[in-house]
Amino acid sequence: MSHRPIYLDCHATTPLDERVLAAMLPYFTEHFGNPSSINHLYGWEAEAAIKQARTMLADAINATPEEIVFTSGATEANNLALKGVAEAYFSKGQHIITVQTEHSAVLDPCQYLRSLGFEITFLPVQKNGLIDLTQLEKAFRPDTILVSVMAANNEIGVLQPLAKIGELCRNAGILFHTDAAQAIGKIPLDVEAMKIDLLSMTAHKVYGPKGIGALYVRRRSPRVQLSPQLHGGGHERGMRSGTLYPPQIVGFAKAVELAIAEQAAETKRLTQLRENLWQQLQRLGGIHLNGHPTQRLPGNLNISVEGVDGAALLLGLQPVMAVSSGSACSSVTTAPSHVLTALGHSKQLAYASIRFGIGRFNTVDEIDLVAQQAIATISSLRKQTSLV
Ligand SMILES: *Cc1c(COP(=O)(O)O)cnc(C)c1O
Repeated sequence: MSHRPIYLDCHATTPLDERVLAAMLPYFTEHFGNPSSINHLYGWEAEAAIKQARTMLADAINATPEEIVFTSGATEANNLALKGVAEAYFSKGQHIITVQTEHSAVLDPCQYLRSLGFEITFLPVQKNGLIDLTQLEKAFRPDTILVSVMAANNEIGVLQPLAKIGELCRNAGILFHTDAAQAIGKIPLDVEAMKIDLLSMTAHKVYGPKGIGALYVRRRSPRVQLSPQLHGGGHERGMRSGTLYPPQIVGFAKAVELAIAEQAAETKRLTQLRENLWQQLQRLGGIHLNGHPTQRLPGNLNISVEGVDGAALLLGLQPVMAVSSGSACSSVTTAPSHVLTALGHSKQLAYASIRFGIGRFNTVDEIDLVAQQAIATISSLRKQTSLV
C-alpha cells in the first residue's frame, strides 16, 4: 500500500493545524525577542504576544491571566501541581487523594510523594470508569490537602463529574486539581463553576505544538500556595523559571481558540463518526465498549474484542490505521493497561483492546474504511483460532 495508515490516535497526539502553524511562524523569525527584555522593541513585541495568549487561555477556562503558569506540557503541569502543593501544605497535612485510572503523569508523582512520606489514596472506579462520589467523600480526612481527578481519560475518554467533585472538595476545604490534557478545547471547562483550584493543560492534544502547556493556579478564594519546582530567574511570578517560548505559546493559544470556536460543531461531527464506527463494529458480536457510553470524549471509542489475540489484532490493523492498544504511554511495557484492569477486565480482554482516537481531520470515508478493515481483520483472526 502506498498510502500511510489513517491516523486515529488523537489521544496520543494530534497533527498541528495549519492555522496554528501560520500564527507561530513570525515568532521564530521576525519577532524573536525575549519577552523578559524590557528595554527594547524586540522584548516588547514578544511580551505583547505572550500577554495576548495568556489572556486567551485564561478566558478559555474562565480564569484571569495572572493565574496561568506556562510549562513544557501537562506532565510538567501535573508535577508542579502535585509536588508544589505537597511541599507548600506539608505542615497542614500529608494526605492526597487520586484515582487508579489517572495518567502516569499524575500516578508517578504521587508514588514519588509516597516515597517521601505522604499518604496517597488511589480511588477505584466503577465499571463505567467513573469515580463514586460517596467513596470520594468517605476518603476525605482532616489531613487531606489535595484531590487530583482527571477531566477526561486518555484511554477510555470518560469524563469525570468535575463540578460535583469541586463542590465536595470546596466544602471540605481541600484543594482540587484536575489534569485536563485531553479536555481543553474538547469540552466546556470553567474553573469558577466547577470550583477547580489547579488545572493542567497541554497544546499537542488539541492540534497545537508539542512541548508547551500550562498550569492554572487559583489566586483568589482560596489563594493556592505552590512551591516552585524549577528555580531560576523568577519567571511566571516565581512559580516556574525559564525563558518563555513565544512561538509555542502563541501556537498553544491559537489552537485552544480554534478548538473552542469550533467546539459545538466538532462535538456533533465526531460523535456521529464515533457512533457510526461503533454501530458497524458491534455487528460482529463479542465486542465490548470500554467506559461510559455517553459521558465520554466525542472522538473516543475504546473496545475490547473477544476471541482474538491483542498483538495479532494490532498487527493486522497496522497497515491501514494508526491506533493504540492500551495506553500509548505504557506501550513500551507489555503489562495490560492499568485503566482497563481498573474497570475489572481480565488480562486477556485488556490486551485485546483498541483505542480509536478520532479527530479534526478524519472523514466519513476514512471511518467507513476503518470499520470495514477492522471487521475483516477480527473475523479472519477469529476464524483462524476456531480452526486450531
Ligand atoms: C498526554 C497527557 C499527558 C501528558 O501531557 P504532555 O503535554 O505530553 O506532557 C498528561 N495527562 C493526560 C491525561 C494526557 O492525555
